[in-house]
Amino acid sequence: MLESFDNRTGVIWYNNRFVPWREACVHVLSHGLHYASAVFEGERVYDGVVFKLDDHTQRLHESAKMMGFTLPFDSETISRATYELLHRQGIKNGYVRPIAWRGSEMMAISAQRNTIHMAIAAWEWPSYFDPDTRKKGIRLGYTPWRRPPANTAPVHAKAAGLYMICTLSKHHVEKKGYDDALMLDHHGHIAESTGANIFFVINDALHTPIPDCFLDGITRQCVIDIAQRQGIDVCERVITPKDVESADAAFLTGTAVEVTPIASIETVRLKGHPLVDTLIEAFQAYVRQTCHHHKTCESVSL
Ligand code: PMP
Repeated sequence: MLESFDNRTGVIWYNNRFVPWREACVHVLSHGLHYASAVFEGERVYDGVVFKLDDHTQRLHESAKMMGFTLPFDSETISRATYELLHRQGIKNGYVRPIAWRGSEMMAISAQRNTIHMAIAAWEWPSYFDPDTRKKGIRLGYTPWRRPPANTAPVHAKAAGLYMICTLSKHHVEKKGYDDALMLDHHGHIAESTGANIFFVINDALHTPIPDCFLDGITRQCVIDIAQRQGIDVCERVITPKDVESADAAFLTGTAVEVTPIASIETVRLKGHPLVDTLIEAFQAYVRQTCHHHKTCESVSL
């Protein structure tokens, strides 16, 4: 039997109160459920510290704004709630999921006067892909679903509705035995996977798609920064499925997947490149250093 996420012990922060995990419910007549008027975040906890919490909270505020609503809590409240939650749950290494959604006052397309609700849950979560798969590199397959153009959806919001095509895509490729789906944009150019950004190593340089119709991930931005500081060329450009054939290596970046090597994309096998291991290590070192710095600052201010 699959252990369900709604049947656990502990607490969830819900509209500024800690409620028992199993009682953190929404009503079936919630606008967020029917019309996908919900935004969320995914954050990782390393040794008791939420990596880039301020950036994630900022993105949550911006996602809400793009959806036409305002979060009912400021960043400081969200930050305090997150750490209190981690403390109560006793989580040192795990995942944090804040979510905000429109409530039930109006249950039609228009929802101008709906209350905005917000919850934060946290749980232990070691690795997105199982460690063996991850070490060998994951296998990606193409999905027929494409990222929508920027004038058809709020593509830079981490909004629930945009994940409809991600779940469809992931299911599509899982049936064929792949680990994740590679999504193209509306032009047929490579965009991202279902929950992470993608990079290629071509001629000793990093190449990554321009995030014009998908999230410019926080991990993506870190990896670009780390690479540039190491003197590695980073080229943001249009990348086509044909370009994949000339790539030596590729990897995904994201809060959940961290930096995960890709072994193949459909029939194209990627032989690998030492740059990928260098970046995996450099990213881990950066995470450790950032989290350690946060801890040190916290203890000074206490
Ligand atoms: N694209 C999608 C669709 C995602 O869900 C995520 C994960 N939030 C990313 C990219 C990577 O973003 P980040 O590095 O901020 O986690």
